[in-house]
Amino acid sequence: MANSIIKKLKDSGLKGRGGGGFPVGLKWELAKKAKGKVKYVICNASEGEPNVFKDGYILKNYLGEVINGISLAMETISAETGYIYINSKYFKEMEESIKLAIGKRKIIIFEKKARYIGGEETAICESIEGKRAEPRKKPPFLTDSGLFGCPTLMNNVETFYYISKIAQGKYEKKRFYSVNGDVENPGVYELPEEMTIFEVLKKTGNYPSFDFFAQVGGGASGEIMIMEELNRPVSGAGSITIFDRKKTNVFALMEKWAEFFHLGNCDKCVPCREGAYRIYEMVKKKKLDYDILDELFLSLKESSFCALGRGIPIPFISLIEKVIKNEKY
Ligand code: SF4
Repeated sequence: MANSIIKKLKDSGLKGRGGGGFPVGLKWELAKKAKGKVKYVICNASEGEPNVFKDGYILKNYLGEVINGISLAMETISAETGYIYINSKYFKEMEESIKLAIGKRKIIIFEKKARYIGGEETAICESIEGKRAEPRKKPPFLTDSGLFGCPTLMNNVETFYYISKIAQGKYEKKRFYSVNGDVENPGVYELPEEMTIFEVLKKTGNYPSFDFFAQVGGGASGEIMIMEELNRPVSGAGSITIFDRKKTNVFALMEKWAEFFHLGNCDKCVPCREGAYRIYEMVKKKKLDYDILDELFLSLKESSFCALGRGIPIPFISLIEKVIKNEKY
């Protein structure tokens, strides 16, 4: 049974839908083979980036499939206890329905109270252990040493949903896309996983009739794409946010991102903690000093402790290079 589900996962080619894209079958195999009497499974339901809400949609609409995926994981790697690490908003909205769906299974609902970075996988382990939600140095990876130092298998909500589909032979190589911003039909759509940004916008009746740019893969960390780049696949967390060029205040947009990174980082390392704050300070004043920004971006990319800090420059650089410099703000 355990080997057959791992084979099915490997054959499906399913990759983690939390943004990292690690092959799911391989992760399960590593967790199963890891040595340890006690093992854990964690479902990451901490989704908290602006304009990304597909995991919340899946929990509301397909909770049974998600719980089934978690149960399969517990059975496969011989974990007695599972956790659902869930953001406060979803916890408040869905605690009762999740409890009902869990039934007698030993799955604990753990409410995330940490900042945004508290959704990073090692920070989740720290948080459940009762410590500050800060990322750990990797390796060791979770499948060797995760929660309480035990082998731990963590996938996010969307991944567990598709694991359940694969186990039932019903996987059709789809994924969930959040589409929002200046669009006619905002919402969450389940569509083929290989679609381009252009195809998703057309298929969902959301391709704008005006001049626009898009933020793809996350409502803060996502890269800005201009109309000529829409033949690229939808990356990261599967979100597309459309901005009407005429209506969008680019400084207000950058201020929103900068505030998110400034308040959402964990304060552990200087490049990210100070860098996010300095960017926030600058964009609030609506005057960009490109020399200072270049230095801040370099230091964030080269010396941040974790991926959140290293990724902060992406939205800013892409907006500045593709939109701001071309329109001479
Ligand atoms: S880069 Fe540093 S401060 Fe930023 S979230 Fe990661 S560990 Fe925390």
